[in-house]
Amino acid sequence: MSEDALVAAAKAARMRAHAPYSQFYVGAAAESTSGEIAVGANMENACYRLGVCAEQSALTAAQQAFGLENVARIAIVGGHRTDTAGGNGAITPCGGCRQAIAEAAGRAKADIAVICCDAAGEAREHYTIAELLPASFSLDPDAAGG
Ligand SMILES: [Zn+2]
Repeated sequence: MSEDALVAAAKAARMRAHAPYSQFYVGAAAESTSGEIAVGANMENACYRLGVCAEQSALTAAQQAFGLENVARIAIVGGHRTDTAGGNGAITPCGGCRQAIAEAAGRAKADIAVICCDAAGEAREHYTIAELLPASFSLDPDAAGG
């Protein structure tokens, strides 16, 4: 799958976010090593601390669809609900999501590419999870990326 198609999947997921409190809509699309896609969006809750980020939502779907051990890359698109034109700058995963992506990298025994985008998916920054979260916490000392 092309990067543009992966980012488009994240953009479509973003529009299905449930974020009535922050109005900050985020979508994520995880791609497997064989090109399968699992998407997620942030899901807020009136009890704020129960909200779930888009990245972890997508990784949950990925685990069910093709397994965390097969995640090759993840695209993230975000911005205010009304911002579809972009220009807000690329967003990057929060610390907790970096740890969640590192967990998948540990299962995959490979680094994971992280494509960070603005709301339009046009401004992009490219990282790996090892770059975004060096020396991540892991219970598996042999896990790559973790
Ligand atoms: Zn997060």
